[in-house]
Amino acid sequence: MASINFSKVVKQYEGAKEATVKGIDLFIRDKEFVVLVGPSGCGKSTSLRMIAGLEDITDGTVTIGDVVVNNLPPKDRDIAMVFQNYALYPHMNVRENLSFGLKLRKFPRSEIDKRVEEAAAILGLTEYLDRLPKALSGGQRQRVALGRAIVREPKVFLMDEPLSNLDAKLRVQMRAEIKKLHQRLKTTFVYVTHDQVEAMTMADRIVLLHEGIIQQYDIPAVIYEKPANVFVATFIGSPPMNIFKVNRTDKGLSMPAKDGNGNHSWDMAVNEHFTGFDDKELFMGIRPEHILIDNQDKSVPTLQLPCRVDLIEPMGAETYLYLVGNGHSINARVDPTVRVQVGQQVTAHIPVAAFHLFKQSDTRRIARKNEGGA
Ligand code: ADP
Repeated sequence: MASINFSKVVKQYEGAKEATVKGIDLFIRDKEFVVLVGPSGCGKSTSLRMIAGLEDITDGTVTIGDVVVNNLPPKDRDIAMVFQNYALYPHMNVRENLSFGLKLRKFPRSEIDKRVEEAAAILGLTEYLDRLPKALSGGQRQRVALGRAIVREPKVFLMDEPLSNLDAKLRVQMRAEIKKLHQRLKTTFVYVTHDQVEAMTMADRIVLLHEGIIQQYDIPAVIYEKPANVFVATFIGSPPMNIFKVNRTDKGLSMPAKDGNGNHSWDMAVNEHFTGFDDKELFMGIRPEHILIDNQDKSVPTLQLPCRVDLIEPMGAETYLYLVGNGHSINARVDPTVRVQVGQQVTAHIPVAAFHLFKQSDTRRIARKNEGGA
């Protein structure tokens, strides 16, 4: 059993004015792949290092399985960690790099050989066992670093930005390999990254951290479709969700112009779609891929906004449009068959079923009527 539990965990570094991790509660199930994601400095590595035993815990408890590990030395925690800077021993070949940790722990020769052969087979390194690190590609070296963790057969794998030194193509490949590794090893993985694409593609569940506080903890689809607040909504997704200040009026919604040209108003029975709020001051959020340009399909109810096309970025499979409407900049991701010109006037359609509302007061998401709760 290698579940991990954080109970009211606080980390305050010596001399720091405020805590880096501010009382987080988190339960990671046995065999789950959980990704800690958030902007630089939000406390991801600190949280991971507290699981590893590389940082003291200021307050609260961290439990691995059913053991409180606050005072347990790292070597007794049955974890293995892979870092961004996975320095291999340059004078040792791959086999020696893989076996070194087990030798130190005085494993019998036959057991070391067995584990090294198995790890090499899993990682496709069998034919490179006699090579020195300098004769390996970046991806192969990263696999050796993973192999050093695998041979330990730990209950928990901890990974801190393990792919950030690799080039973009290799990152995509290793991302898939690590995910397959998890499926094969059936062990708990906790993975730290600042890259929201890695989080979305790899995680069973995502922990989104900001300033030492968990903003949301859920499966990727829920994080994307029901972001708990404006921070989550704009952190996950590229280009990010468009966010506009709007006001609720007697008739519906109005959007104050950014360029001082008055409000743009929509008649809409807000109550029919959203529930559980009295606020008048709101944020509207709409993902770029949900915006329709000059929509002709009247069966899709939309809010309409006249816009000017400012910039077009063809990406091949899709096109990014940068629009200006009511003084606001708006990103849209459209099908490449949508033909528009820079400077052209278009109508951006915001499907009623697709936009989000958040409270301006605390930026929290307002629930839709049909979704049953938050
Ligand atoms: P992340 O991994 O999300 O980028 P970290 O957990 O590394 O963030 O760091 C969070 C904050 O804690 C940062 O502001 C950082 O400067 C601070 N911090 C990290 N390590 C130490 C340390 N050893 N001493 C003092 N402050 C630290």
